[in-house]
Amino acid sequence: MNTAVQSAGVLSFEDAYEVVRERCRQIRNVGDRPSEEVLLMQAVGRVLAEPITADRDFPPFPRATRDGFAVRADDLVRGVTVLRVVGQVRAGDSYDLPVGSGEAVEIMTGAAVPVGADAVVMVEYTGRKTQKLNHEGHEGAQRKEFGDGGDIGDDDNVLDIASNESPKQQEKRTEDLVEVQRTVASGENVVPAGAEAQAGQELLPRGVRLRSAQIALTAAAGKASVKVYRKPKISILSTGDELVEVAEKPGPSQIRNSNSYSLAALVAECGGEPVQLPIAPDEEGKLTELIQEGLKADMLLLSGGVSMGKFDLVEQALKALGAKLFFTGALIQPGKPVVFGEVGAVPFFGLPGNPVSVMVTFELFARQMVEALSGAQPERMKSAKAKLKKDFKTKTGLTRFLPARLDGALDDPEVEVVPWQGSGDMLAAARANCYVVVPPDREKLAKGEMVTVVLR
Ligand code: AMP
Ligand code: MG
Repeated sequence: MNTAVQSAGVLSFEDAYEVVRERCRQIRNVGDRPSEEVLLMQAVGRVLAEPITADRDFPPFPRATRDGFAVRADDLVRGVTVLRVVGQVRAGDSYDLPVGSGEAVEIMTGAAVPVGADAVVMVEYTGRKTQKLNHEGHEGAQRKEFGDGGDIGDDDNVLDIASNESPKQQEKRTEDLVEVQRTVASGENVVPAGAEAQAGQELLPRGVRLRSAQIALTAAAGKASVKVYRKPKISILSTGDELVEVAEKPGPSQIRNSNSYSLAALVAECGGEPVQLPIAPDEEGKLTELIQEGLKADMLLLSGGVSMGKFDLVEQALKALGAKLFFTGALIQPGKPVVFGEVGAVPFFGLPGNPVSVMVTFELFARQMVEALSGAQPERMKSAKAKLKKDFKTKTGLTRFLPARLDGALDDPEVEVVPWQGSGDMLAAARANCYVVVPPDREKLAKGEMVTVVLR
């Protein structure tokens, strides 16, 4: 057995993932977190701190889903039928009289189906015929407007129009006939009132992240502003004597602190408020000071200093501050030295400093914690299967998450591992749009094989 497996605190990927998940669940259950009321468009990507309830039925009226004619399905059971078009109803309008037997109301998509009608027959299955009515409401000459249903026969029964109507009602009456060439089932092309949700029903529970569909629902429920959880503050502390700030000119053996930026971007992406701290040197005193500063936030992310080197002091400094460590490594590559723990109630992750490792370990572990601290219902990592484009060789013992590019046809996704110079290769990370997962017992993956990819 690999020595790493035996060393205390180093877990398999699955175990490490579950440890973080369990901690996320517990943290989410600790009371209600602070919230604020924001305008709807400021709530995009935020997490609901109040349930959204339907202020009326969804839809509020029986909604026509097609342009056509509102009819009584029973009228059409004998096949081709001619109905009297007694009115028209557009979206936003209403037709207030009951639709009687032998009658139809011309209707547009999104309009309210009038009382009495129980189906909408699509305009494509009808032929419109106009006829002049004389003052007494008798039929005059007929003219076929469209459709191919043939002329209206002498024996077609066209009902008399009620004469005791208000002028407004009369205005809505037309003098047309429609030939319907198809039968319809009761309810066809109509969404009944309240079919999606009834007034008072919960549309969205608290803890839901507001993406476009949820924003639409919230808007439809009449909420111009909405209560969302405050974003959790996530401190970001990069460690390493070789690091300089982005705006500084690095010396020949120095590098720019890019991890603070990848982490800040990732934190912002998943709904946290990144707080970038100054670079910590590989010196315990100053490092401890900055860690203490970082622990004032809701969570602390550290980069670098968690390997086995002489100047990898992060674990030591955290322990001295009374940290509880849940794991001190995971059998993954990149990112094996990843550390997860808490000081008091504040969770932290010590992420390995290599730029790809930092991004991978954030995705695998830290993301769900940022989401939990945002008050969001936990979601599992998003994964899919795709066909490997090229053979691939690796070593066994670690679960690998290799930067890769997913493309191909909708029904035939293909993935290719991006060539890279190891965990420090930021360019590879920037070319990738997913990670190919290689299980720890696999040495070779063959072209054409279906592999798991983690989406990001
Ligand atoms: P460490 O985990 O501290 O041993 O660092 C591993 C590698 O990642 C080293 O090559 C570091 O120079 C590099 N590295 C560490 N921190 C950063 C950072 N903040 N930005 C970019 N590279 C880093
Ligand atoms: Mg270092």
